[in-house]
Amino acid sequence: MKAISKISGITILSTGLALFTMCTKNQKVDTLVVNANIYTVDSTFSKHQAMAIANGKVVELGTTEDIQAKYSAPKVINAQGKSIYPGLHDPHSHFLGYGLTLRNANLSGAGSWSEVVTRLVEHHAKFPSTWVEGRGWNQNEWDIKEFPTKDLLDKAFPNNPVLLIRVDGHAAIANSKALEIAGVNESSAVDGGSLIKQNGKLTGVLIDNAIELVRKVVPAPSTQEKQNALFQAQANCFKVGLTSVSDAGTDLADVLLFDSLQKSGELTMRIYTMLNPTEENIKHFVEKGVYQTPKLTVSSIKLFADGALGSRGALLIEPYSDDVNNRGLQLEPPAKYMEIAQIAHTNGYQVNTHCIGDAAVRFCLDVYANYLEPNNDRRWRIEHAQIVHPNDLNRFGELKVVPSIQSTHATSDMYWADERLGKRISYAYTYQQLLQQNGWLPNGSDFPIESINPMFGFYAAVARKDQKGYPEGGFQPENALTREQALRAMTIWAAKANFEDSFKGSLEKGKVADFVILDRDILAAPESTLFETEVLATYIDGKAVYLKQ
Ligand SMILES: [Zn+2]
Repeated sequence: MKAISKISGITILSTGLALFTMCTKNQKVDTLVVNANIYTVDSTFSKHQAMAIANGKVVELGTTEDIQAKYSAPKVINAQGKSIYPGLHDPHSHFLGYGLTLRNANLSGAGSWSEVVTRLVEHHAKFPSTWVEGRGWNQNEWDIKEFPTKDLLDKAFPNNPVLLIRVDGHAAIANSKALEIAGVNESSAVDGGSLIKQNGKLTGVLIDNAIELVRKVVPAPSTQEKQNALFQAQANCFKVGLTSVSDAGTDLADVLLFDSLQKSGELTMRIYTMLNPTEENIKHFVEKGVYQTPKLTVSSIKLFADGALGSRGALLIEPYSDDVNNRGLQLEPPAKYMEIAQIAHTNGYQVNTHCIGDAAVRFCLDVYANYLEPNNDRRWRIEHAQIVHPNDLNRFGELKVVPSIQSTHATSDMYWADERLGKRISYAYTYQQLLQQNGWLPNGSDFPIESINPMFGFYAAVARKDQKGYPEGGFQPENALTREQALRAMTIWAAKANFEDSFKGSLEKGKVADFVILDRDILAAPESTLFETEVLATYIDGKAVYLKQ
């Protein structure tokens, strides 16, 4: 029995029997990959033509001739010269959150507030629900670049509660019905958040912790809805070459759901979770030490030091250039960070703290400095590390703190970030300088804030341009990454930031056979085409999880 499938120039031959070859010392494996241009992303950045795979692991790499002489397999992937890379990692994303947003109206890319409301009305006609939810609005993309007010929403939805989350997740707008159900009014107040008013009346815009006042009354998705969301998210992620994602801020029930769906085989995706600092997470996981299966890593606690720059929630040392009485928001009392850092340190956990503003980064480094020994290998992380005061830059290297960056944030924010920051823009998005601190860093997307497509991040990291090629020469191009660095940052260095580099992140003997076949060689293709790179096939444990038709 012979079956040949042809997908986009790759031939996959399945014989059901080990292929006969001339070599008598022939070893049987499960799969051979031949005639490929394999970037192993090992320490020397070596390349090979062929790879033997057995039991989901890489057995050996070498020339096509040598590998075919030594091994036979019932399945042979003839890559016909195509380039192969380790499976792509997203070291900071919101996997479940992304899946759930697929149900909600996508409001990104709208040109005005009224277009947002029109899109929402159309979405609601197609997917009727009591609560109307949406995500992705961004007033910086609109004709009038100001926060909206709820009037249009109230007209369109007088009887349905509406909650629309801003693109960065750090602001939202609710309509009057939603505010009424949540019991929010002009006298409501919350620590680490604010409710925007105009002439003393609520506009419906909620910043940071104020979003929770309304979000907590939105009915939670059922377990079945979450499962469906995860399967949909997984399918989309395989299509863009992701074999490892993360869930940056997870509650206990959701970690347990990932684990059980992975163990039953229903969920194939590998996940790195960052635990929310809840009592039940600490009791169930942290106090029992790191939990790791081949598919799931639970080794970190996620904290937030501040909000986001777009909604002026990022904590700055000096006030905002476009809001001189505002320095942003610290989201928790200082003692909380010390308490969690102590628990993490005692139990061998990482602390991964969201820090956007320079004051947040400085505060977090100060907290970490109380616990981190010289030359430690604890891999405590600062998520985003967007604005780093020059006096604090070297502390990443001194404390061995990992800057966990998202290169697309630079090219998304470059249009307006200087309005918020003024001259401080020169020390924002300093990815190459941050990389030099420890000699490595992970690069993710923070999806659903940005696209799930890791090639967008690769392109943004190396070109420092948006997809229209703007600006010519790149935005602060001295902080671009080289292509080799950018590839490492979404494979082996991402795995390292997750404490997963011992078994994945590169294609080496004994590591899992997670890999992607791309339609072009991203180390050599013209820069302007990198973001158009398409995935021809994605493999996890040596098995295809996506084949482009
Ligand atoms: Zn995030």
